[in-house]
Amino acid sequence: MKKGQLYINGQFREGADKQHLEVINPYDLEPIGSQSVAEGSDVRQAVSCAAESFKRWKKQSAYERGALLRKLYDLVLENEERLAKMITLEQGKPLSEAIGEVRYAASYLSWYAEEGIRIKGDILEPTHKTMRMQVIKQPVGPVGIITPWNFPLAMFVRKMAPALAAGCTVIIKPAEQTPLTAYEFFRLVDEAGFPDGVCQLVTGDPVEIGKIFMEAESLRKISFTGSTEVGKLLMAQSAETVKKVSLELGGHAPLIVFADADLDKAVQGTIDSKFRNCGQVCIATNRVLVEKSILPAYQEKLLEKVASLKAGSGFEENDMGPVIDRQGYEKISEHVDDALNRGANLLFGGQGYRQKDNQGGYLFQPTVLGNISEDMKIMQEETFGPVVPITAFETEEEALRIANQTPFGLASYFYTENISRAIRVSEGLEFGMVGINTGRISSAQAPFGGVKASGFGREGGYYGIEEYLHTKYIGTGI
Ligand code: NAD
Repeated sequence: MKKGQLYINGQFREGADKQHLEVINPYDLEPIGSQSVAEGSDVRQAVSCAAESFKRWKKQSAYERGALLRKLYDLVLENEERLAKMITLEQGKPLSEAIGEVRYAASYLSWYAEEGIRIKGDILEPTHKTMRMQVIKQPVGPVGIITPWNFPLAMFVRKMAPALAAGCTVIIKPAEQTPLTAYEFFRLVDEAGFPDGVCQLVTGDPVEIGKIFMEAESLRKISFTGSTEVGKLLMAQSAETVKKVSLELGGHAPLIVFADADLDKAVQGTIDSKFRNCGQVCIATNRVLVEKSILPAYQEKLLEKVASLKAGSGFEENDMGPVIDRQGYEKISEHVDDALNRGANLLFGGQGYRQKDNQGGYLFQPTVLGNISEDMKIMQEETFGPVVPITAFETEEEALRIANQTPFGLASYFYTENISRAIRVSEGLEFGMVGINTGRISSAQAPFGGVKASGFGREGGYYGIEEYLHTKYIGTGI
């Protein structure tokens, strides 16, 4: 049994009340370990240590900070198997995907180890010869980072790496379902030798920890990834201390297949963007829009591929692991039932089940639904499961109208071989990210983030480090 602890001021330790939360394997619901719970006093201590260590960390050179990030990057890669096994154990995704997640997380450490030294300001031409005008960038201050369970490592590393490179200190609060991956990672943070208080880990009651973060004057930024509901709450709470906030929230990605698309590419893109992590991905395709004339051909090719996908243990040869919990499973079932009750056709799958004689965690068959209409829940909300709902359209305008008809605006995808259409549609989609002829768009150098109810702020590349910097103007009379 793994026993995870908090990491506060450079020390691993229990919470003040020595409480633990049990961590279970979502595949068989067996306990796999426990994680220490932080009480209010522990969280407040982490906040004051982050503020104290910020005074020194911000003064280190970007080269010194970069060297530590590089060391952490090396340690993560050396330990990728251990980290990946923990991800599969507590989150359920196939081990090959978990290894992909570790490498993806590591790529942000490597990118920001180098990006930190490229932070720069400006010298402006003054209005009068008696003035000098300078613009500098400075770290915003200590940062609270709150992340979900679907990528137990990558979600917080994607925030932590640019924050540290910019000169901020960080307190990570991972999801209750997946705290042990964070603990394993923090053992490497400790080994890398970051100064005490620069990186800290707290786990426990999210409402209480969130409140302490939001009320703390000294935490100058909150970076949150999770549901739109919690994101809105944090945004409201941030008003009291006027904190800088980044919100990476829910998505509802359309994938549009035009008649002039390369159909094999479009089918592969649907598989890539839908079934990874059992569909529990914020940028997963949630609605497929196919031009009417090629609908039968697209469906036939898609069904052929979907029929070969297997759900099961992440430690065996499977394409998908379990759904994270009962609540997630019920939402998927509800979307499928609602669609079928309103006239959808079941083209494949459709069943969720508890494996091992009705014991253990929830699996859901890869599912394809045809004859989908806009009034169905699945066309309005994020499903977070392995379900492909297909609807037909006749014109480009209609496709764009349906795609944009959502309060969410995270990722979107479309397939066409026509260059003019590619430009028109990519500009017309009201989303923070667009994939043209690909279902895989996320990368350390690219700005990841949404618009509308999917939040604001960007992670990745030059854009990602800006989120952790203030712009200061210095006017000097001479
Ligand atoms: P969630 O909002 O319930 O939880 C996310 C995190 O917030 C967890 O750490 C949780 O403990 C914490 N939390 C919950 N209530 C809180 C509160 N009152 N105050 C402070 N923290 C609180 O989200 P979830 O259901 O676990 O995760 C799935 C959601 O995350 C989906 O909507 C998905 O689209 C979204 N997501 C978005 C991105 C992105 O980059 N846009 C990436 C991954 C997941």
